[in-house]
Amino acid sequence: ATPTAIMVGTGLGAQRGVLFKNATALEGTAKIDTVVMDKTGTLTKGEPEVTDVVAAGMSEEEMLAVVAAVERESEHPLARAIDAYAAERGLPALSASEFMNVPGHGATATVRGRRVLVGNRRLMASENVELGDLAERRDELAASGRTAVLAAVDGRAVGVIALADAARDTAAAAVAALHESGIEVAMLTGDNEATARRIAEQLGIDTVIAEVLPGDKADKVAELQRAGKTVAMVGDGVNDAPALAKADIGIAIGAGTDVAIETADIVLMRSDPLDVSVALRIGKGTVRKER
Ligand code: ADP
Ligand code: MG
Repeated sequence: ATPTAIMVGTGLGAQRGVLFKNATALEGTAKIDTVVMDKTGTLTKGEPEVTDVVAAGMSEEEMLAVVAAVERESEHPLARAIDAYAAERGLPALSASEFMNVPGHGATATVRGRRVLVGNRRLMASENVELGDLAERRDELAASGRTAVLAAVDGRAVGVIALADAARDTAAAAVAALHESGIEVAMLTGDNEATARRIAEQLGIDTVIAEVLPGDKADKVAELQRAGKTVAMVGDGVNDAPALAKADIGIAIGAGTDVAIETADIVLMRSDPLDVSVALRIGKGTVRKER
């Protein structure tokens, strides 16, 4: 595009809170045919809240107190929500030692001499924990679109804590706007398949890539590129940065982490997923003017 067209496009973007970092970012958006959206914090508000608690073999209070002791040591959004919920219920703050974060799985620690695991099915499977009666509850909660966190103490499953993370108000409209422009939309998430499918259904998203480990998000983008797609990746988290870099165009949510914002080609200052289609339209307009 001509320098004038670039200037106009960049200015138009700025007015709408769409920050194009350079001319390549602006021109690159014109070629995008596939948009990959991170789920948590991009399509959803990224503020999970506890909705259901199921305990097995101990009281709800005891289970929650032990789990919260582990989660207090973690910065994961699910951990922050569980910790806050336990505090709200006035449960005693137990201390944890030997805390370990297991990326994409959960966390482990020792609480009152007992080894506690908090996380997803993958974490439980890796430690050979049988879910027993809790398996069915977990599946029901996940099928309803909630994230089900499992807890085990000394190798025994003791609970399920379900959390809901509301979709951003404009998430469904953002997907519809992209579809209207003939763009394919996929959801990419570390969350489990059933939860992701339910939310994708609500938002009108056709393709779901779930249970992706933090280190594998960029590979999933590369796979789409090998299949001939020109991909824009939209994300907010530290986990998303490699995928933002790998994509033809990386788009960061303004409220996201510094790493995501630094890595992206475009930043959505209003943190509104509807602005993804605004960015693509401005890019197309800029390139068209040149011809
Ligand atoms: P996301 O893309 O959803 O942010 P992550 O890779 O951070 O994914 O986490 C993937 C999954 O691992 C979560 O959905 C959750 O089931 C589990 N998990 C990770 N960390 C924790 C934690 N501290 N407490 C409970 N579950 C966790
Ligand atoms: Mg996220």
